[in-house]
Amino acid sequence: MDTAQLWTAALGEIELSISRANFITWFKHTSLERITDGCALIRTPNGFAKEWIEKKCADTVTAALRKHNPRITSIRCIIGTPVPRDIDGVHKPQTPNTHRIGDILRTARKNKQPTPPTNLPHVAHHPTTHRPPQSATTFTSYLNARYTFDNFIVGAHNELAHAACRTVSASPGEVYNPLFIYGDVGLGKTHLLQSVGNAIIAASPDKRVLYTSSERFTSELIDAIHNNTISEFKRFYQTIDLLIIDDIQFLAGKEKTQDEFFHIFNYLYQQNKQIIISSDRPPHAIATLEARLRSRFEGGMIADISQPDFETRVAILQKKADEKDLVLPEDAAQYIAKHVAQNIRELEGALNKIAAICTFHNRIPSRAVVEEILGARVTQQTSPTADILSVVSDHFNITRDDLTSSSRKKTIAYPRQIAIFLMREDHNLSYPEIGARCGGRDHSTIMHSYRKIKKAITHDHAIRNDIDIIRQKLRNM
Ligand code: ADP
Ligand code: MG
Repeated sequence: MDTAQLWTAALGEIELSISRANFITWFKHTSLERITDGCALIRTPNGFAKEWIEKKCADTVTAALRKHNPRITSIRCIIGTPVPRDIDGVHKPQTPNTHRIGDILRTARKNKQPTPPTNLPHVAHHPTTHRPPQSATTFTSYLNARYTFDNFIVGAHNELAHAACRTVSASPGEVYNPLFIYGDVGLGKTHLLQSVGNAIIAASPDKRVLYTSSERFTSELIDAIHNNTISEFKRFYQTIDLLIIDDIQFLAGKEKTQDEFFHIFNYLYQQNKQIIISSDRPPHAIATLEARLRSRFEGGMIADISQPDFETRVAILQKKADEKDLVLPEDAAQYIAKHVAQNIRELEGALNKIAAICTFHNRIPSRAVVEEILGARVTQQTSPTADILSVVSDHFNITRDDLTSSSRKKTIAYPRQIAIFLMREDHNLSYPEIGARCGGRDHSTIMHSYRKIKKAITHDHAIRNDIDIIRQKLRNM
């Protein structure tokens, strides 16, 4: 039995011992790396899964593995993503920071530089392999050559962010440092950030451009602490010319990581090295972000990306259809754009589905065909509140009915407050709306619950942890 077969067999056992939701959330994209001295090394896609499996499930996993290989006595998780994952949150962008818009758009126009080719052979990209610890001599950017300015559609919703990124790629470290881009999930932050990296490498191939996520940064730091290689870790980051950190919101609450990041940030900043950061919300809305980091972020340029309007959605669909050599009639594109309005990733997903079905059946994606293909999706869309109620109840091992019941027991009231908090914070629902969805409660009760959690989250690590894990589960749905 090789490690892949052993892991498949063990997963079969594990699935029987834990809830389905937990199984899917925590074991998706895991693999068995190797067995060393009786210790099974399991690869997990992120720090949450590592923590959950090691803390809550180590015995179950060890037992499942031992059934097939009795020499295994313990497990340890390491982080490495088999498929590039987006770890976006679900916060609504707040009011855009519009200062210096005129400046930035002007500079961007002045600096219009040639767009890099779509395929950049020198840009190493290994989505399917674990990221080895980097050293100053071997260097990988972790950029995806697929993301360029060339295939990025500009509309009113992303004009400022796009202009800022163009400017930065023309004069890195000189104008907007750091550049902070924020916006809701699936709206193109990663695409834009990586476009800058690709453009800079295309213009100066010897520049050390590093793309990473704050989760990955954290786990590398944890590994460095564990392996006593913290000075190498710091030295490595100090050699970077352009540091791109995606989804910085995951640094929230991680004091030690923020501390190390702050020093690396300062070092690079003082050397005029460009830093680009993305987040699902503006710096001031990242709870438990150290004040000194927040003020550093706010000292640079902040640009938001909002929801694309209908016309932009149609333009994006047409562009993506062209890239696939798919003829998409205007009314079909409009139908998709009207019904898939949430974000660009979903728009792409819908188009991919249509393209696959139409190619397979050799049909033209007319409006009627598109309507038929998307029909089920359009009518069956699950609501975010329903998802929150089910994930929260599952997380706390209570029923959905408990959440909407009148019970005031702490074991039920606390999960209910968390659900209310997430509905408000992540989906911007009004207090009366939330009240209606949580068993017909009065809006003042809802407001009280929301404020209570909002306040507690700033100092209570356990609450923050619950919320982080629930958000992660919601994202994985
Ligand atoms: P985010 O990082 O904000 O969650 P991504 O950058 O991953 O979003 O974008 C989601 C998908 O939508 C990607 O495949 C990306 O290429 C595509 N996309 C987003 N914005 C645009 C755009 N303006 N033009 C073309 N494609 C886009
Ligand atoms: Mg992203």
